[in-house]
Amino acid sequence: MKVVVTGGAGFIGSNFIFYMLKKHPDYEIICLDSLTYAGNLSTLKDVMDNPKFKFVKLDIRDRKGVYKLFEEEKPDVIVNFAAESHVDRSIENPEIFLETNIIGTSVLMDACRKYGIKRFHQVSTDEVYGDLPLDRPDLFFHEDTPLHTSSPYSSSKASADLLVGAYGRTFHLPVTISRCSNNYGPYQFPEKLIPLMIQRALNNEKLPVYGDGKNVRDWLYVEDHCKAIDLILEKGTPGEVYNIGGHNEMHNIDIVKLICDYLDKPYSLIEHVTDRKGHDRRYAIDPEKIHNELGWLPETMFKDGIKKTIQWYLDNKEWWENIISGDYQNYYDEMYGKK
Ligand code: NAD
Repeated sequence: MKVVVTGGAGFIGSNFIFYMLKKHPDYEIICLDSLTYAGNLSTLKDVMDNPKFKFVKLDIRDRKGVYKLFEEEKPDVIVNFAAESHVDRSIENPEIFLETNIIGTSVLMDACRKYGIKRFHQVSTDEVYGDLPLDRPDLFFHEDTPLHTSSPYSSSKASADLLVGAYGRTFHLPVTISRCSNNYGPYQFPEKLIPLMIQRALNNEKLPVYGDGKNVRDWLYVEDHCKAIDLILEKGTPGEVYNIGGHNEMHNIDIVKLICDYLDKPYSLIEHVTDRKGHDRRYAIDPEKIHNELGWLPETMFKDGIKKTIQWYLDNKEWWENIISGDYQNYYDEMYGKK
Protein backbone atom coordinates (compact mmCIF):
# COMPACT_ATOMS: atom_id res chain seq x y z
CA MET A 1 0.00 0.00 0.00
CA LYS A 2 1.37 3.39 -1.00
CA VAL A 3 -0.16 6.35 0.84
CA VAL A 4 0.36 10.00 -0.08
CA VAL A 5 -0.12 12.25 2.94
CA THR A 6 -0.50 15.89 1.90
CA GLY A 7 0.32 18.54 4.52
CA GLY A 8 2.40 15.96 6.39
CA ALA A 9 4.88 18.55 7.65
CA GLY A 10 2.09 20.22 9.63
CA PHE A 11 0.56 19.33 12.98
CA ILE A 12 -1.93 16.53 12.36
CA GLY A 13 -0.35 15.27 9.12
CA SER A 14 3.01 14.66 10.84
CA ASN A 15 1.36 12.86 13.73
CA PHE A 16 -0.53 10.75 11.17
CA ILE A 17 2.73 9.84 9.40
CA PHE A 18 4.35 8.74 12.69
CA TYR A 19 1.26 6.71 13.55
CA MET A 20 1.03 5.01 10.14
CA LEU A 21 4.74 4.13 9.91
CA LYS A 22 4.47 2.44 13.31
CA LYS A 23 1.09 0.78 12.78
CA HIS A 24 1.70 -0.36 9.18
CA PRO A 25 5.45 -0.93 8.77
CA ASP A 26 4.79 -2.48 5.34
CA TYR A 27 3.10 0.68 3.95
CA GLU A 28 5.04 3.23 1.92
CA ILE A 29 4.30 6.79 2.99
CA ILE A 30 4.97 9.81 0.79
CA CYS A 31 4.63 13.21 2.41
CA LEU A 32 3.68 15.93 -0.05
CA ASP A 33 4.00 19.40 1.44
CA SER A 34 4.86 22.84 0.09
CA LEU A 35 6.29 23.89 3.49
CA THR A 36 4.32 27.06 4.09
CA TYR A 37 5.00 28.94 7.34
CA ALA A 38 3.02 26.12 9.06
CA GLY A 39 5.05 23.23 7.65
CA ASN A 40 8.32 22.22 9.25
CA LEU A 41 10.75 19.65 7.96
CA SER A 42 12.36 19.48 11.39
CA THR A 43 9.14 17.85 12.61
CA LEU A 44 9.82 14.90 10.30
CA LYS A 45 13.54 14.49 11.11
CA ASP A 46 13.06 11.18 12.96
CA VAL A 47 11.46 9.50 9.94
CA MET A 48 13.56 11.00 7.15
CA ASP A 49 15.87 7.97 7.09
CA ASN A 50 13.05 5.44 7.19
CA PRO A 51 13.22 3.53 3.86
CA LYS A 52 9.40 3.41 3.81
CA PHE A 53 9.16 7.21 3.97
CA LYS A 54 9.74 9.87 1.36
CA PHE A 55 9.30 13.65 1.46
CA VAL A 56 8.34 15.59 -1.67
CA LYS A 57 8.20 19.38 -1.59
CA LEU A 58 5.21 20.21 -3.75
CA ASP A 59 2.23 22.55 -3.75
CA ILE A 60 -1.15 20.83 -4.13
CA ARG A 61 -2.17 23.66 -6.47
CA ASP A 62 0.66 22.71 -8.86
CA ARG A 63 -1.29 20.56 -11.32
CA LYS A 64 1.73 19.56 -13.41
CA GLY A 65 3.77 18.64 -10.36
CA VAL A 66 0.93 16.67 -8.78
CA TYR A 67 0.24 14.73 -12.01
CA LYS A 68 3.95 13.95 -12.35
CA LEU A 69 4.05 12.61 -8.81
CA PHE A 70 1.00 10.40 -9.45
CA GLU A 71 2.47 9.13 -12.70
CA GLU A 72 5.79 8.24 -11.07
CA GLU A 73 4.57 6.92 -7.72
CA LYS A 74 1.15 5.44 -8.57
CA PRO A 75 -0.21 5.87 -5.03
CA ASP A 76 -3.12 3.75 -3.73
CA VAL A 77 -4.47 6.22 -1.20
CA ILE A 78 -4.40 10.01 -0.73
CA VAL A 79 -5.07 11.56 2.65
CA ASN A 80 -5.47 15.29 2.22
CA PHE A 81 -4.40 17.27 5.29
CA ALA A 82 -2.81 20.11 3.27
CA ALA A 83 -4.64 23.31 4.02
CA GLU A 84 -4.39 26.84 5.21
CA SER A 85 -5.76 26.18 8.67
CA HIS A 86 -5.74 29.30 10.81
CA VAL A 87 -9.09 31.12 11.18
CA ASP A 88 -7.55 34.48 12.14
CA ARG A 89 -5.31 34.44 9.08
CA SER A 90 -8.34 33.65 6.89
CA ILE A 91 -10.03 36.79 8.19
CA GLU A 92 -6.91 38.83 7.32
CA ASN A 93 -6.40 37.28 3.88
CA PRO A 94 -9.05 34.85 2.57
CA GLU A 95 -7.64 34.34 -0.93
CA ILE A 96 -4.91 31.80 -0.20
CA PHE A 97 -7.48 29.76 1.76
CA LEU A 98 -9.67 29.50 -1.33
CA GLU A 99 -6.69 28.62 -3.51
CA THR A 100 -5.19 25.90 -1.33
CA ASN A 101 -8.25 24.50 0.39
CA ILE A 102 -10.59 24.46 -2.63
CA ILE A 103 -8.50 24.56 -5.83
CA GLY A 104 -5.73 22.43 -4.31
CA THR A 105 -8.24 19.75 -3.28
CA SER A 106 -9.73 19.68 -6.77
CA VAL A 107 -6.25 19.32 -8.36
CA LEU A 108 -5.56 16.30 -6.14
CA MET A 109 -8.90 14.72 -7.05
CA ASP A 110 -8.34 15.39 -10.77
CA ALA A 111 -5.05 13.49 -10.43
CA CYS A 112 -6.95 10.66 -8.70
CA ARG A 113 -9.40 10.54 -11.62
CA LYS A 114 -6.62 10.57 -14.20
CA TYR A 115 -4.36 7.95 -12.64
CA GLY A 116 -6.84 5.89 -10.59
CA ILE A 117 -6.92 5.51 -6.84
CA LYS A 118 -8.30 3.17 -4.17
CA ARG A 119 -9.31 5.99 -1.84
CA PHE A 120 -9.21 9.77 -1.59
CA HIS A 121 -9.73 10.86 2.01
CA GLN A 122 -10.46 14.48 2.83
CA VAL A 123 -9.58 15.67 6.33
CA SER A 124 -12.22 18.21 7.25
CA THR A 125 -13.38 20.01 10.33
CA ASP A 126 -16.44 20.42 12.57
CA GLU A 127 -16.25 24.13 11.74
CA VAL A 128 -18.09 23.44 8.48
CA TYR A 129 -21.28 23.06 10.55
CA GLY A 130 -21.03 26.60 11.97
CA ASP A 131 -21.72 26.90 15.68
CA LEU A 132 -24.24 25.87 18.33
CA PRO A 133 -25.85 28.07 20.99
CA LEU A 134 -24.21 27.97 24.42
CA ASP A 135 -27.55 27.40 26.18
CA ARG A 136 -28.46 24.22 24.27
CA PRO A 137 -26.05 21.54 25.56
CA ASP A 138 -28.41 18.93 24.10
CA LEU A 139 -27.48 19.90 20.51
CA PHE A 140 -24.64 18.24 18.59
CA PHE A 141 -23.31 18.22 15.02
CA HIS A 142 -24.37 15.11 13.11
CA GLU A 143 -23.10 14.12 9.66
CA ASP A 144 -26.33 15.45 8.11
CA THR A 145 -26.25 18.79 9.98
CA PRO A 146 -26.41 21.48 7.26
CA LEU A 147 -23.13 23.20 6.41
CA HIS A 148 -23.38 26.72 7.80
CA THR A 149 -19.98 28.36 7.99
CA SER A 150 -18.80 31.51 9.75
CA SER A 151 -15.21 32.22 8.63
CA PRO A 152 -13.42 32.23 5.27
CA TYR A 153 -11.45 29.22 6.61
CA SER A 154 -14.51 27.12 7.41
CA SER A 155 -16.19 28.24 4.17
CA SER A 156 -13.21 27.06 2.16
CA LYS A 157 -13.21 23.70 3.98
CA ALA A 158 -16.98 23.33 3.43
CA SER A 159 -16.53 24.15 -0.26
CA ALA A 160 -13.86 21.45 -0.50
CA ASP A 161 -16.19 18.96 1.23
CA LEU A 162 -18.92 19.72 -1.32
CA LEU A 163 -16.45 19.24 -4.17
CA VAL A 164 -15.28 15.93 -2.69
CA GLY A 165 -18.90 14.75 -2.53
CA ALA A 166 -19.43 15.89 -6.11
CA TYR A 167 -16.35 14.03 -7.40
CA GLY A 168 -17.64 10.95 -5.61
CA ARG A 169 -21.05 11.17 -7.19
CA THR A 170 -20.19 12.48 -10.65
CA PHE A 171 -16.90 10.69 -11.30
CA HIS A 172 -17.40 7.70 -8.98
CA LEU A 173 -14.19 8.57 -7.16
CA PRO A 174 -13.93 6.45 -3.97
CA VAL A 175 -13.96 9.34 -1.51
CA THR A 176 -14.45 9.62 2.24
CA ILE A 177 -14.56 12.72 4.44
CA SER A 178 -13.89 13.03 8.17
CA ARG A 179 -14.93 16.09 10.18
CA CYS A 180 -13.01 16.35 13.42
CA SER A 181 -13.22 18.59 16.44
CA ASN A 182 -10.26 20.66 17.75
CA ASN A 183 -7.06 18.63 18.02
CA TYR A 184 -4.29 19.10 20.56
CA GLY A 185 -0.96 17.38 21.03
CA PRO A 186 2.72 17.56 20.00
CA TYR A 187 3.93 19.56 16.98
CA GLN A 188 1.01 21.97 16.83
CA PHE A 189 2.07 25.28 15.35
CA PRO A 190 2.49 27.86 18.14
CA GLU A 191 -0.25 30.20 16.85
CA LYS A 192 -3.06 27.86 17.96
CA LEU A 193 -4.67 28.24 21.39
CA ILE A 194 -2.91 25.57 23.48
CA PRO A 195 0.71 25.95 22.25
CA LEU A 196 0.32 29.74 22.07
CA MET A 197 -0.74 29.91 25.72
CA ILE A 198 1.97 27.50 26.86
CA GLN A 199 4.69 29.43 25.08
CA ARG A 200 3.50 32.84 26.30
CA ALA A 201 2.94 31.64 29.87
CA LEU A 202 6.48 30.24 29.95
CA ASN A 203 7.75 33.71 28.94
CA ASN A 204 5.46 35.38 31.54
CA GLU A 205 3.68 37.22 28.71
CA LYS A 206 0.02 38.24 28.71
CA LEU A 207 -2.35 35.46 27.67
CA PRO A 208 -4.80 36.97 25.16
CA VAL A 209 -8.27 35.40 25.39
CA TYR A 210 -10.97 36.40 22.92
CA GLY A 211 -14.05 38.06 24.45
CA ASP A 212 -15.31 36.48 27.67
CA GLY A 213 -13.50 33.20 26.94
CA LYS A 214 -16.74 31.28 27.29
CA ASN A 215 -16.58 29.89 23.73
CA VAL A 216 -16.72 26.12 23.83
CA ARG A 217 -14.50 23.78 21.81
CA ASP A 218 -14.57 19.99 21.74
CA TRP A 219 -10.96 18.75 22.19
CA LEU A 220 -9.47 15.50 20.89
CA TYR A 221 -5.93 14.18 21.35
CA VAL A 222 -4.27 14.16 17.92
CA GLU A 223 -3.38 10.44 18.00
CA ASP A 224 -7.03 9.54 18.48
CA HIS A 225 -7.81 11.53 15.32
CA CYS A 226 -5.06 9.66 13.43
CA LYS A 227 -6.46 6.29 14.56
CA ALA A 228 -9.92 7.29 13.36
CA ILE A 229 -8.61 8.21 9.89
CA ASP A 230 -6.70 4.93 9.62
CA LEU A 231 -9.91 3.08 10.50
CA ILE A 232 -11.89 5.02 7.88
CA LEU A 233 -9.28 4.09 5.26
CA GLU A 234 -9.55 0.43 6.23
CA LYS A 235 -13.25 0.01 6.92
CA GLY A 236 -15.05 3.20 5.90
CA THR A 237 -17.57 3.20 3.07
CA PRO A 238 -16.79 5.35 0.01
CA GLY A 239 -19.17 8.28 -0.29
CA GLU A 240 -19.59 8.56 3.48
CA VAL A 241 -18.82 11.35 5.94
CA TYR A 242 -17.64 10.49 9.48
CA ASN A 243 -17.67 12.91 12.41
CA ILE A 244 -14.79 12.48 14.86
CA GLY A 245 -14.93 13.88 18.38
CA GLY A 246 -14.35 12.87 21.97
CA HIS A 247 -17.30 14.49 23.79
CA ASN A 248 -14.82 16.70 25.56
CA GLU A 249 -16.21 20.23 25.59
CA MET A 250 -14.25 22.95 27.35
CA HIS A 251 -14.56 26.73 27.66
CA ASN A 252 -11.47 28.40 26.16
CA ILE A 253 -10.87 30.28 29.41
CA ASP A 254 -10.78 27.00 31.38
CA ILE A 255 -8.10 25.61 29.07
CA VAL A 256 -5.99 28.72 29.64
CA LYS A 257 -6.45 28.46 33.43
CA LEU A 258 -5.50 24.80 33.33
CA ILE A 259 -2.27 25.68 31.50
CA CYS A 260 -1.54 28.38 34.11
CA ASP A 261 -2.12 25.84 36.89
CA TYR A 262 0.15 23.26 35.31
CA LEU A 263 2.94 25.78 34.72
CA ASP A 264 2.37 27.45 38.09
CA LYS A 265 1.62 30.84 36.53
CA PRO A 266 -0.85 33.43 37.90
CA TYR A 267 -4.28 33.97 36.27
CA SER A 268 -3.38 37.68 36.26
CA LEU A 269 -1.50 36.95 33.02
CA ILE A 270 -4.86 36.39 31.33
CA GLU A 271 -6.01 39.36 29.27
CA HIS A 272 -9.43 39.49 27.63
CA VAL A 273 -9.10 41.00 24.14
CA THR A 274 -11.64 42.12 21.51
CA ASP A 275 -13.55 39.09 20.28
CA ARG A 276 -12.70 37.48 16.93
CA LYS A 277 -15.02 38.64 14.13
CA GLY A 278 -17.82 36.10 13.62
CA HIS A 279 -16.46 34.02 16.51
CA ASP A 280 -18.28 30.67 16.76
CA ARG A 281 -19.69 30.06 20.24
CA ARG A 282 -19.82 26.29 20.60
CA TYR A 283 -18.72 23.26 18.59
CA ALA A 284 -19.82 19.79 19.68
CA ILE A 285 -19.51 16.64 17.61
CA ASP A 286 -21.72 13.58 17.82
CA PRO A 287 -19.30 10.70 17.03
CA GLU A 288 -21.95 7.92 17.22
CA LYS A 289 -21.64 6.94 13.56
CA ILE A 290 -17.90 6.21 13.58
CA HIS A 291 -18.33 4.49 16.95
CA ASN A 292 -21.24 2.28 15.87
CA GLU A 293 -20.12 1.52 12.31
CA LEU A 294 -16.32 1.36 12.65
CA GLY A 295 -15.84 0.73 16.37
CA TRP A 296 -13.77 3.88 16.98
CA LEU A 297 -13.55 5.38 20.45
CA PRO A 298 -11.14 8.03 21.75
CA GLU A 299 -8.51 6.49 24.01
CA THR A 300 -6.80 9.50 25.61
CA MET A 301 -8.60 11.22 28.48
CA PHE A 302 -8.25 15.01 28.28
CA LYS A 303 -6.64 15.24 31.73
CA ASP A 304 -3.86 12.89 30.58
CA GLY A 305 -3.55 14.26 27.03
CA ILE A 306 -3.20 17.87 28.14
CA LYS A 307 -0.49 16.98 30.69
CA LYS A 308 1.38 15.00 28.03
CA THR A 309 1.03 17.92 25.61
CA ILE A 310 2.24 20.62 28.02
CA GLN A 311 5.16 18.40 29.02
CA TRP A 312 6.00 17.86 25.33
CA TYR A 313 6.23 21.63 24.78
CA LEU A 314 8.44 21.92 27.84
CA ASP A 315 10.71 19.14 26.60
CA ASN A 316 10.83 20.40 22.99
CA LYS A 317 11.41 24.11 23.43
CA GLU A 318 13.97 24.07 20.63
CA TRP A 319 11.34 22.89 18.14
CA TRP A 320 8.96 25.77 18.76
CA GLU A 321 11.57 28.42 19.47
CA ASN A 322 13.14 27.71 16.09
CA ILE A 323 9.91 28.15 14.23
CA ILE A 324 8.94 31.36 16.00
CA SER A 325 11.03 33.35 13.58
CA GLY A 326 10.86 34.88 10.11
CA ASP A 327 7.37 35.29 8.66
CA TYR A 328 5.73 33.93 11.74
CA GLN A 329 7.54 36.41 13.95
CA ASN A 330 6.19 39.33 11.89
CA TYR A 331 2.64 37.98 12.07
CA TYR A 332 3.04 37.28 15.79
CA ASP A 333 4.32 40.79 16.50
CA GLU A 334 1.40 42.28 14.58
CA MET A 335 -1.21 40.19 16.40
CA TYR A 336 0.19 40.17 19.91
CA GLY A 337 2.63 43.10 20.06
CA LYS A 338 6.41 43.07 19.82
CA LYS A 339 8.24 41.09 22.49
P1 NAD B 1 -1.28 22.87 9.84
O1 NAD B 1 -1.51 24.29 9.47
O2 NAD B 1 -0.49 22.55 11.07
O3 NAD B 1 -0.57 22.10 8.62
C1 NAD B 1 -0.95 22.31 7.29
C2 NAD B 1 0.16 21.74 6.41
O4 NAD B 1 -0.26 21.88 5.05
C3 NAD B 1 1.50 22.47 6.55
O5 NAD B 1 2.55 21.52 6.63
C4 NAD B 1 1.61 23.27 5.26
O6 NAD B 1 2.97 23.46 4.83
C5 NAD B 1 0.83 22.39 4.29
N1 NAD B 1 0.29 23.15 3.16
C6 NAD B 1 -0.41 24.31 3.20
N2 NAD B 1 -0.71 24.72 1.96
C7 NAD B 1 -0.21 23.78 1.12
C8 NAD B 1 -0.22 23.63 -0.29
N3 NAD B 1 -0.81 24.55 -1.08
N4 NAD B 1 0.38 22.55 -0.83
C9 NAD B 1 0.99 21.63 -0.04
N5 NAD B 1 1.04 21.73 1.30
C10 NAD B 1 0.44 22.79 1.87
O7 NAD B 1 -2.73 22.22 9.91
P2 NAD B 1 -3.30 21.07 10.88
O8 NAD B 1 -3.79 21.69 12.12
O9 NAD B 1 -2.35 19.95 10.92
O10 NAD B 1 -4.59 20.63 10.04
C11 NAD B 1 -4.48 19.64 9.02
C12 NAD B 1 -5.85 19.42 8.41
O11 NAD B 1 -6.78 19.02 9.41
C13 NAD B 1 -6.43 20.68 7.77
O12 NAD B 1 -7.05 20.32 6.56
C14 NAD B 1 -7.46 21.17 8.78
O13 NAD B 1 -8.52 21.83 8.12
C15 NAD B 1 -7.92 19.86 9.39
N6 NAD B 1 -8.39 19.95 10.79
C16 NAD B 1 -7.61 20.53 11.76
C17 NAD B 1 -8.06 20.54 13.08
C18 NAD B 1 -7.20 21.11 14.19
O14 NAD B 1 -7.66 21.18 15.33
N7 NAD B 1 -5.97 21.48 13.95
C19 NAD B 1 -9.31 19.99 13.40
C20 NAD B 1 -10.07 19.41 12.38
C21 NAD B 1 -9.61 19.39 11.08
